[in-house]
Amino acid sequence: MTNAFTLKVADIVTDDPAVVRVLDQGFVTLIDFMPSGYPFGEPVEDATPGDLAVVAAARVSYGTVSKGVEADKKLVHYLIKHGHTSPLEMVEFKFLIKAPVLMWWQHVRHRIQEMNFQSGRYTAYPEDEYYLPTKLRLQDKVNKQASVLADFLSSEEEQTLLEELREHYRAGFALYQKMLQKGVAKEMARLALPGWALYHTAYVKMNAHALMNYLDKRLDPSAQYEIRAYAEAMERIFAQKLPWVHAAWEAKRSDRS
Ligand SMILES: Cc1cc2nc3c(=O)[nH]c(=O)nc-3n(C[C@H](O)[C@H](O)[C@H](O)COP(=O)(O)OP(=O)(O)OC[C@H]3O[C@@H](n4cnc5c(N)ncnc54)[C@H](O)[C@@H]3O)c2cc1C
Repeated sequence: MTNAFTLKVADIVTDDPAVVRVLDQGFVTLIDFMPSGYPFGEPVEDATPGDLAVVAAARVSYGTVSKGVEADKKLVHYLIKHGHTSPLEMVEFKFLIKAPVLMWWQHVRHRIQEMNFQSGRYTAYPEDEYYLPTKLRLQDKVNKQASVLADFLSSEEEQTLLEELREHYRAGFALYQKMLQKGVAKEMARLALPGWALYHTAYVKMNAHALMNYLDKRLDPSAQYEIRAYAEAMERIFAQKLPWVHAAWEAKRSDRS
């Protein structure tokens, strides 16, 4: 794979289920996953290694893994329904995520995860790596944090504002380049960049328990659209790797609503 700094949305093979495009230039990819194979190397038909790792951890006291697909699925549902979460921590997702700072600002509030970020002190930021939405949302009048998708601007007004935003990004980048050319350190020149919109790439490692908590919060309609889009991408990968756990988690969520 191309390295994290040069990987662009256009390079992404769209039919790869472990890679999901997000927003205009972002993505979520699954770089690594634990377990790497079935517990004790024994495949079980109709079961994924990830689901079985959860089952195996839950049955550690009995020294067994699978008791048949139906019994195993039932066990997974039981674990999730009753908050018996430590077996879920035996499964880990390592994502490579490219997202604007706007998203990262909220993402980093989740303490149960490991991260490693691209540093703008080592390498200069490339041009045009800014998030430019296609639609501007209206400020919600009731929920002071939220926004509403509404036609409150004429299409012309909206396009003009978006074009002005693009110009603002360009001006910031031009100043950034000017400062770099004059020898200003990258760590200082970046002050010129439009921070909230700037795309950053990071490795994010989360166990399945932490990921489910993340998704509970960030898939909620009260979460900001942009982080919800990333949560949806992570959920797709979660559902592929842990279909039983995902189904049990969805059942618990629909019981709550
Ligand atoms: C819609 C929305 C709006 C938000 N608005 C704001 C905001 O305005 N300002 C702001 O600062 N944050 C805001 N947040 C962030 C929010 O308060 C949480 O910090 C964030 O969602 C992380 O959730 P978490 O603590 O469950 O996850 P993690 O930090 O990953 O923690 C996972 C779980 O571990 C446990 N845990 C972790 N740390 C502790 C601890 N220190 N003590 C006890 N238990 C712990 C808790 O059970 C927690 O649920 C918002 C989140 C959402 C979804």
